[in-house]
This record gives sequence, C-alpha cells and structure tokens, in this order.
Amino acid sequence: MEIPVERRILAANEDLAARNRERLRAAGCFVVNLISSPGAGKTSLIERTADALRAKPAPVSFAVIEGDIATEQDAARVRARGVAAVQINTRGDCHLDARMVSGALDRLAEQTDLSKLDLLIIENVGNLVCPTEFDLGEDAKVVVASVPEGDDKPSKYPATFLRASAMVVNKIDLLPYVDCDLDRLIGDARAVNGRLAVFPLSCRTGEGLEAWIDWLLAGARRNGE
Ligand code: MG
Ligand code: ZN
Repeated sequence: MEIPVERRILAANEDLAARNRERLRAAGCFVVNLISSPGAGKTSLIERTADALRAKPAPVSFAVIEGDIATEQDAARVRARGVAAVQINTRGDCHLDARMVSGALDRLAEQTDLSKLDLLIIENVGNLVCPTEFDLGEDAKVVVASVPEGDDKPSKYPATFLRASAMVVNKIDLLPYVDCDLDRLIGDARAVNGRLAVFPLSCRTGEGLEAWIDWLLAGARRNGE
C-alpha cells in the first residue's frame, strides 16, 4: 500500500512534536505557535510582550524561537529586549516543523534554563497556509491578523483560524485610515471557530495589550501547576 508522501511527512512530524511537547510540559512551560502573513506584526507583538512581562511584579521566565526563511534580524530584535532567543533559518521552507524546533530548543538551552521557563513563543514563518499543518509541540496556535490586511482573511484561510486558540488583531490604530471592518473580521473568525479568544490591539500605541498578556499568563499559570 502506498502512503502519500505528504501524509508520511506529517506523521513523522507528529512524533517529534510529541517529544517537544513532553520536554516543555515537564518544565511547566506554556508554548505558543505564532502564525500570520508577513508584516502583520508578530515580532512587534513579541517585543511588546517582553516589555509588558518585564514590568510585572512577579518575574516571568520568557524565551523566543524565531522562524524565518533567512536572516537573524528577528532574534536580534528580541535579544535586544533582554529575552533569550534563537533563530531558525528554514532556507526556503515556508513553515517551521517539529525537527527544527527540537534543534532550536537545544540551542536555547545554552542561553536559558529550559526547566524554569514559564512561557515560550515560537514565531513561525510569515505565511497563513501551511504553518498550521505542522504541529511543533505547542499548547496553542495564535493567529495574528492586522487591520491593513483587510477583513477577509478568516474566510479565505479558514483552516488557520479553525486550529487557532486565539486571534490577535494588530494595528487597530490604523482602523480610521483603511478599509477593514473589525466586526466583520471578528465575526467571520468566530463563525469558523466559536471558541477563538480575540485580542484587538495596537503594538504601536499599546492599546489592548493587557488582555493579551493576561491570556498568556493564565496559560503559563495553568501549565505551571
Ligand atoms: Mg518576524
Ligand atoms: Zn510551508
């Protein structure tokens, strides 16, 4: 019997993802797989998150894995915020897979004590299509939409919104200037996935960030128990 190649690749990925999940669960860490199209503001959201977590009275051990086709730029941006970060370069691949993340965890362990980690954000390659197919060992997929992209992404890429636990809508400060109906965007996303937590916010102004941070901290608390 012939098993389609794509199915075999995904099955091998599942095994490695389960191992990543076990490793991070043992640490009590909450792991987020951040997915969006290029330019929606994933790295800006991570920078803002780093600043907000640092301002909390109780320390939160936070680390980041950055995924891009090329360059170290995003990991450097995150490290500049005082957060442990490693970069994966996929060299052409349009998504991260569990094997890449496993190697990145080994490198991250050289920068920070993984057993004490509360929160890990994995920034996927900017792409709304296949990143959602590849389990990395995360607890939650979070899709980042942004106002300048318009309000049609949930209806055009339903699988990504269906598999997400939360949706961030970034750049709400631009709502007066672009054709994006926020109610339609959220309504369409909720029509695909009724359990989606939704966080409209602006990484530029900081509006709406607190609810997002609270959601991350609730996840970290849950896994830390
Ligand atoms: Mg980025
Ligand atoms: Zn891909």
